[in-house]
Amino acid sequence: MPVKILLNGYKGRMGQAIMSAAKDDADCDICALCDMGDNPESLIGNADVVVDFSFRDATPKLADLCAKTSKPLVIGTTGHSAEQRDSILKCAKTIPIVWAGNYSVGVNLLNYLTKIAASVLGDSYDVEIVEMHHKFKKDAPSGTAEKLKEIVCKARNVGENMVCYGRHGQVGERPVGEVGVHALRGGGVVGDHTVIFASDGERLELVHKAADRKIFAVGALRAAKWVSAAEPGLYGMEDVLNLK
Ligand code: NAD
Repeated sequence: MPVKILLNGYKGRMGQAIMSAAKDDADCDICALCDMGDNPESLIGNADVVVDFSFRDATPKLADLCAKTSKPLVIGTTGHSAEQRDSILKCAKTIPIVWAGNYSVGVNLLNYLTKIAASVLGDSYDVEIVEMHHKFKKDAPSGTAEKLKEIVCKARNVGENMVCYGRHGQVGERPVGEVGVHALRGGGVVGDHTVIFASDGERLELVHKAADRKIFAVGALRAAKWVSAAEPGLYGMEDVLNLK
């Protein structure tokens, strides 16, 4: 039996991508559609799982409704305040919630491979993280590059004081253990991330290139199928993909 999904935010870019991806997935059935102005309470009854790609203010109420009706939840929406996060986290005590800032299977694997490479390769390998996005992107570096930086810093046991965001002028010799982060902007690039490990004799590069937001939709559907059989708790894509 396919997993029946209530999709919140279906009129948006991601909502449309999820509807399109679900058409190609026999194990998923989008049984109910919800957007601004609709009442999810009247739509949730038939669903096995709720998937939310809407707006940050919508998620806490939706999570409450899921907790009340015992429906597992996949959250793709980003940008919640600390207060909103706390309210959503309380619901994970009674229902399973998958919550990820990036549902791309490839990016989550890149995170995992970066963790392994950073711990296997010692300080003699200099790490540089390079991201490129379209010219309209407002923030830099990307959330995904920030996450990669955190993974490298944790594996190397170094703090933010060892991170260098871009270089300019007389920068001097590169300190041992420094983590470089660089943001490139131009054209219509959806999202490229490269993690470079460079030593005197060799260079390892882990590269991910996103071409279509379909990758987030496919990952979110994978999470929806997984969460339908999960125990109550808070999970990330690393749990869905078994990357622990
Ligand atoms: P969008 O603006 O194109 O679509 C958002 C949709 O949500 C709209 O149709 C809007 O009407 C609807 N909406 C707004 N308030 C609502 C409410 N209270 N109840 C129900 N629906 C409501 O945005 P998008 O590009 O589709 O992105 C949606 C969210 O997903 C954003 O937070 C974005 O950052 C996030 N996102 C996450 C990932 C990921 O992998 N986690 C990937 C891409 C986007």
